[in-house]
Amino acid sequence: MTQSFTPVSSIGEFGLIDRIERLLPDPLQNENIVCGIGDDAAVYRASDGLLQVITTDALIEGVHFDRALTPMSYLGAKAVTVNVSDIVAMNARPKLATISLGVPRNMSVEMVEALYTGISDACSSYDVTLVGGDTTSAQALYLAITMVGEGADDQIVFRRGAREGDVICVSGDLGAAYAGLQVLLDQKRALDEMGEAYEPDLEAQRKVIDRQLAPLARLDFLGVLEEFNIHPTSMIDISDGLASEIHHICRQSQTGATIRIATLPIDPVTRAVADQFMDDVDTYVFYGGEDYELLLTASPEDGARLEKGGHVAIIGEVLDADSGVHAFSPEAGLIPLEGAGYDHFEQPFSGDGI
Ligand code: ADP
Ligand code: MG
Repeated sequence: MTQSFTPVSSIGEFGLIDRIERLLPDPLQNENIVCGIGDDAAVYRASDGLLQVITTDALIEGVHFDRALTPMSYLGAKAVTVNVSDIVAMNARPKLATISLGVPRNMSVEMVEALYTGISDACSSYDVTLVGGDTTSAQALYLAITMVGEGADDQIVFRRGAREGDVICVSGDLGAAYAGLQVLLDQKRALDEMGEAYEPDLEAQRKVIDRQLAPLARLDFLGVLEEFNIHPTSMIDISDGLASEIHHICRQSQTGATIRIATLPIDPVTRAVADQFMDDVDTYVFYGGEDYELLLTASPEDGARLEKGGHVAIIGEVLDADSGVHAFSPEAGLIPLEGAGYDHFEQPFSGDGI
């Protein structure tokens, strides 16, 4: 198959913006948008009586992803997802987004178009309107999305509200995205060694590869909280690993916590991948990250209702601050849980991360 490669330089910045605009639905289809793409700034009508929530998150080649391992459309969708996930973690609904795009010279117009197909599809699946952006040349591909959301005054949930006696809940299984990354890196090594002779068979691991390449934000979970009429005392999305996130909640709420290892929801495929690489699957859960599930605290009654409905797993309890943050297993007892998840300034990038 020959793929066309139109150099970005052949159509220029404004040509590229035109192409991008054509790939996106017209922002004016959203009745709250007064002016979308084409002016100095987008203009929108804010909803009456709701709080606005704003977040921004960037994905940078060589830091967050390896272009060789990441199809462009998946990358675009993931950039949207990570921002939606942050808005959802406030118990708010995402509404609008802008995107800053840094395009390296060796990227083609077709690649940018594939990127925007992913961005556009993800935006429509989360009901987000893309109202503008900025385009520059760059040394490495980067996408920085800013997203605006909204929620009722009394509905927004912060990291700071956990109370001693609350239960700790998680909205889905953990460690899968990191397992997927291990499989992809292994594939890359095999491909480098064997070249064309290499025939990957990834069916068994498809599930965890998808969790790495095409994660989904839990926008649907807002509906669950509404249906059960439950207001979590605190909430955070799991982007850097469970250990890091529980520490954020405990620090901001001035509490301690114990996570019960036996209760962690882990998919059998995630376990199988950890076994294959002779890793301890719990480290995937605590330090792997990129699961984009929600970690929340709630009263024991609310937690039990959500668990009974099949919407969360209860994985621990909130304690007083002096108790510290631990993981617990019957065999090992209380193990102090270090807070470090992925930290950009602690782990030098090895060049093969994603
Ligand atoms: P300005 O020079 O005023 O910053 P630009 O030429 O950067 O304007 O952008 C023109 C219009 O195109 C603006 O409405 C901007 O929001 C939109 N735009 C620019 N780059 C992108 C992009 N990568 N994706 C979506 N919209 C974009
Ligand atoms: Mg500009």
